[in-house]
Amino acid sequence: MTRRSEFRNWSGDRLGRPAVRPAPGSAEETAAAVARAAACGLPVKAVGAGHSFNAVASTDGTHIATDRLDAVVSIDPEQGRAVVGAGIRLGALNRELAAAGLALPNLGDIDRQSVAGAVATATHGTGARLAGLASAVVGMEIVDGSGRLIRCDDQRRPDLLRVARVGVGALGVVTEVTLRCVPAFDLHAVETVEPLDEVLEGFDEQAAANDHFELYWMPGSRRCQVKRANRTSEPRRPQPRLAYLRDKIAGENLAFAALNTLGARVPGAAGPVTRLLEAGLSDRDLIDESHRVLTSPRWVRFHEMEYAIERAALPEAFARVRALASGLARPVVFPLEVRVSAADDIPLSPAFGRDTAWIAAHVRRGRPYGAYFRGFEEIMDDYGGRPHWGKLHFQDRASLAPRYPQWGAFAEARGELDPDGRFANSYTDRVLGPVAG
Ligand SMILES: Cc1cc2nc3c(=O)[nH]c(=O)nc-3n(C[C@H](O)[C@H](O)[C@H](O)COP(=O)(O)OP(=O)(O)OC[C@H]3O[C@@H](n4cnc5c(N)ncnc54)[C@H](O)[C@@H]3O)c2cc1C
Repeated sequence: MTRRSEFRNWSGDRLGRPAVRPAPGSAEETAAAVARAAACGLPVKAVGAGHSFNAVASTDGTHIATDRLDAVVSIDPEQGRAVVGAGIRLGALNRELAAAGLALPNLGDIDRQSVAGAVATATHGTGARLAGLASAVVGMEIVDGSGRLIRCDDQRRPDLLRVARVGVGALGVVTEVTLRCVPAFDLHAVETVEPLDEVLEGFDEQAAANDHFELYWMPGSRRCQVKRANRTSEPRRPQPRLAYLRDKIAGENLAFAALNTLGARVPGAAGPVTRLLEAGLSDRDLIDESHRVLTSPRWVRFHEMEYAIERAALPEAFARVRALASGLARPVVFPLEVRVSAADDIPLSPAFGRDTAWIAAHVRRGRPYGAYFRGFEEIMDDYGGRPHWGKLHFQDRASLAPRYPQWGAFAEARGELDPDGRFANSYTDRVLGPVAG
């Protein structure tokens, strides 16, 4: 099926008007769509759930919707392996895995992304001993720039698998992914509001002492919300439905949206609004399935920049961001988020080779973010910060390549799979440069 439409991402940014939008239902149909585009000289881009904040998934050429590549091909509870279509959404995948007694080792804040889209941009959750989602990928099936189907796993082209896991959509269209899963597990989650200075002082120890550790800080506040979650075999006690609706829907979404609008529009209201939001945070203590604890609904739309830096540098870098956010002419009425992840060995992963802290800055959709995000990025530059590939940033190839010790390995794989730059777009032109000959 082919249809013409404008492409907008989750934040509502208009990111192009694809010439054709095929929605293949198999690897063969995907390969045929790429081959057709190649014959017509059209660029190609796969799109998952459109949940990236920048133009990484955009094209005016052939936009391959992966929604129909959503099959669960097989789940092997003994081996802890799941083979799934690239377009399956994480939420659907989590439910299928849970039914088979399995789970993904870690998850980000939401479950709306496609598995291939999330993997391509190195989507991560939080946990000092846990690497991002791409580190769970042990096999991939990819259609390259000529329409050829390539399989890579630990037996066939392990060199390619290592690189292709974080492909930034520039190596081909992934049709199938094999994931390493773990036995399903429950988490004991405790959310509290604590003095920011104390949390930052003990940051490294806290990150190491908890399976999952993160904090949210509203600019101007002296306190922050801390979320800790640890594996447990105690009986489940999920949050009662009403309390869940109060905290996650009314608190984190509806009231937050209303107060955020007030704080941003009414001069002088940001301070009181921050205090009100803080007062509205109630402590939570529950035990539930991992995927239910780790992900939440996000109704308030926003723009986001997120940087990965060396974990040890977090307290110092955060202090500088705190000064920036508190001193801006236009008050920021949206929390900063801090998370951690383990080092990995994926050439274009922002966590490559270093235990990582992630700092994310947000502004409500439609609000200006230039001064805030540029100032934030300047600070991150001082720490060799690597931006999330699916979020806003102003870097280019010249500034990024030196921050990735194995940039060359990625460039080589790109030259092999896509010598004609079929999967290039304005974003990859800026951040990856042209395909190396
Ligand atoms: C509300 C919200 C919360 C978020 N929370 C987190 C979080 O907790 N942690 C985090 O790290 N990130 C987070 N993100 C960012 C998000 O995980 C990434 O941007 C992710 O890439 C989006 O997945 P998607 O399926 O929407 O991919 P898209 O945005 O559609 O595409 C992203 C990239 O993947 C490529 N791609 C998609 N499918 C394929 C395929 N089949 N083959 C090859 N390439 C493909 C696209 O071409 C593009 O380059 C969040 C985003 C939002 C909007």
